[in-house]
Amino acid sequence: MMKKLIGGSESSLKCEICEEREAQYVCRICGRRVCEDDYSREKGICKVCEMSICEICKRHLAVGKCEKCGRIICEECTAYFDGARRICKECFTSFSSYHS
Ligand SMILES: [Zn+2]
Ligand SMILES: [Zn+2]
Ligand SMILES: [Zn+2]
Ligand SMILES: [Zn+2]
Repeated sequence: MMKKLIGGSESSLKCEICEEREAQYVCRICGRRVCEDDYSREKGICKVCEMSICEICKRHLAVGKCEKCGRIICEECTAYFDGARRICKECFTSFSSYHS
């Protein structure tokens, strides 16, 4: 029962990432329609967002990198931000002894 359309009509929505396979899911972060291969089902996000998702909460898009651990982190997981410097809340906990 599976018929493949070869060129011509664009009746089925294409994945917005690979633009090859049929889109089956919608990323909950960016709203892109993506195919199965470009979607992470357990996270509910597309591959593009997966690469830029906060490595701490894994819920929000990262806005920068922690200066200490090098992980990409979102605004909410940023504990300290000073111009170009950014430290995640996890590193900040061990870093707070620095305050003396
Ligand atoms: Zn795709
Ligand atoms: Zn996405
Ligand atoms: Zn986060
Ligand atoms: Zn860190």
